[in-house]
Formats: sequence, C-alpha cells, structure tokens
Amino acid sequence: MPFCANHCLFCGFYRNRSADEALRDYATHVAQDIAMDAADAEPVHAVYFGGGTPSALAAADLHRLVSTVRDRLPLAPDCEITVEGRIAGFDDEKIDACLDAGANRISIGVQTFDTELRRRLGRRADRASAIAFLHRLRERDRAAVVCDLIFGLPGQDMESWQRDVRTCVELELDGVDLYCLALHDKSPLALSIEKGALPAAASLEQMARMYAVGLETIEDAGWRHLSQAHWAAGTRERNLYNQLVKAGSDCLAFGAGAAGMLDGHRYVLDSDLGSYQRRIGRCDKPIAVLLPPPPNHHARDVVMAGVEQGRLDLVRLDAATAPGFTDALAPLFDQWAAAGLLRRRCNTVLLTTAGWFWHGNLAGSLFAMIDAYLGGVDHASHPTLETQGTHDAR
Ligand code: SF4
Repeated sequence: MPFCANHCLFCGFYRNRSADEALRDYATHVAQDIAMDAADAEPVHAVYFGGGTPSALAAADLHRLVSTVRDRLPLAPDCEITVEGRIAGFDDEKIDACLDAGANRISIGVQTFDTELRRRLGRRADRASAIAFLHRLRERDRAAVVCDLIFGLPGQDMESWQRDVRTCVELELDGVDLYCLALHDKSPLALSIEKGALPAAASLEQMARMYAVGLETIEDAGWRHLSQAHWAAGTRERNLYNQLVKAGSDCLAFGAGAAGMLDGHRYVLDSDLGSYQRRIGRCDKPIAVLLPPPPNHHARDVVMAGVEQGRLDLVRLDAATAPGFTDALAPLFDQWAAAGLLRRRCNTVLLTTAGWFWHGNLAGSLFAMIDAYLGGVDHASHPTLETQGTHDAR
C-alpha cells in the first residue's frame, strides 16, 4: 500500500501521499492483481499487508482486500494475516473491518513512544495516545497485536529506549520488533541531521549497546526471541511472514512497487501507480524487474534462515553446499568465537547477543565463503548485507 499521510523523516518506503479517491481506485486494482495470480498459488502460510500505510485505506477497502485474499488464495488453515498500520487514522471502524474480514495479526509502526522524538520524526500521536490506542487494540482480544520500535534515533538516549521497550512489556502486547535505525544517504532524516536541524543518530557502538539493552529488557520479562529483531510474549505471536521470507520461501507480490520471490528469482512490480493500474487493467502482471537467483541460493537460504534464528545447523549447511564445507569454515568460526560473536555446540553454531547484532554481516561473509568454496563467482555483482536488523517495514 504505497500511500502514507505524510513522510516520516527516517523512512525509505514513502511513495505517495494518501488521497481517498486514489486509494479506492488503487484497492480495486490490487484486488484484481490478487485474483489474477490466484490460480497459480500454492497453499499460502502468511499474508502481509504492508506499506506505506495499509490503514490509510477506507474501512470498506480494508475489508474488501482482506476478504479477496481469503476468497481467492488457497490459504493454509493456520495462515497468518497481518495488517500493518499507523496509530493516526486507524479508527475503530477500520480495525473492525480488518478483523471481521479475517486479519489475525495487527502490526503497528510505533517506532518510539517518546512524544518529543515522535514529533521530530513526523508522528502525530503523542505517548499517551499511542498507549491508549494499543490498549484498545489489545482489549479486543481478536488478533495478535505487535509493534515496531526503532533504536538509534537522533536524540534518543538509553533511558528513553529502555522505557520504550518496557512500555511494550507493560502493555502486554503479543510481540515486538526492535529495529536498528537505517540512515539512508539523502533521506530526509540524513539531510536534517546534516543541516543541524536534528542531533546525530546513535553511533554503531551505541546502537550495539541499545540492541543488547533491548534484548535483555525484553527477555528479563520472559519474552521469547523468535528471530533477530522479533520477540513474542505468550503463544499468539508467530511472526511467520518475516521468518519465511528470510528463509527464502516463495512470496507472491501484489501492488505497485511490491517485491516477490519465486524459486530464488526476485521480482518487483511496477512502482508507478498509473502504469501499474493500466497494466492490471489489461490483465498484464506488471512486473518491472526480474532477477535471476544469486549463486548457490539454496545454501544462502540455509545461512540466512540460521542466522535469523541465531542458530546455524552445520549438517544442513553441508548438505546445501558440499561435504566438508563447514570443516573448512572452522578457523573462521574460531575467530568469530574469540570475538564473542558465537559459540559452538556439536553441529550447531549459536549466536551471542553481539552475533545477533552483526547477523547481517556474518551472513554476508558466509555467502562469500560459500561462493568461494563452490567456485566461479563474481562476488562484486552480489553485494553482501551491510546492516543488522534494520527497519524492514514491508
Ligand atoms: S514509516 Fe510508515 S507511515 Fe511513515 S513514511 Fe514510512 S511507510 Fe509511511
């Protein structure tokens, strides 16, 4: 849903300003997009309405789209259906429309509860309104309620960060995502910092400490670590979509600018609204980019799924690469263990807190090792991951 009420300073996903008529028209085309792919779909385990801001849609359109997914796609009986939203404008009618149509997980991009920080980032609701909103959502008791928080924001100190994490615990949410700020060059946030309108973002070292404090705070409260940036309280939250995508599962894309994956082939739909809608009108799947699988993509999937879970199964990795591959990695693992990033247990590598923080770079190094070991690859054309657990609001 590439529409938002305004452009939050830190965000690299903003595309179009929401306008009622454009949203209605767009929803009609997305519904048609879903219907076009329905015949080819395998059983679907997770659906994610992300953005942008899906909650910018009218209640009737939210109901229509969630219903279309349920009517047209072969959903697994336990399929997770997430609708992502913002506090501002996500009223009771819209929430009920999502739940009545079958959404079973609501993800709210809170980012921070700190009123002053929220204002600086372009968020309208203050701390009290954000808390009251999440309370109301929880009280319905009809879906998993999760929220995103970001650490490393300009002007955010450790006390404010820890208070944010504790607030999620006190609210008894079902899940929380703790994301590291990704400061994109030329983003409005980077430019504001450059101009001196905002203080600097946290340094990498400060971010590492904030990740560790967030992890400790949430796990002291008894929450389960589901994947690098995701925690769950109780049994309701599963966070399927993120985990499946990171593990390389097939993913069907619907909507302008949406990205999908089929058997390792990544594709992106036309992000220009007019052109997307015209092509949908002609029943032409509006694919704009189609990339071949990266080399050794099944082995990369094993690595990515493993580091996301903080647990790399070396038997599986050998099976996905070549016998003896993980023996050849022993000196690297010893070096990482000495640096405090992991520990070995039989045929498993377990990440420490520092390892979780650096998981993207560890995965990138392992990708390079796989390509070098299996041979014949131009590494420069397959860039490795650079950051850790960055805000992936899609
Ligand atoms: S953070 Fe969400 S609401 Fe803000 S600009 Fe990005 S996608 Fe839109």
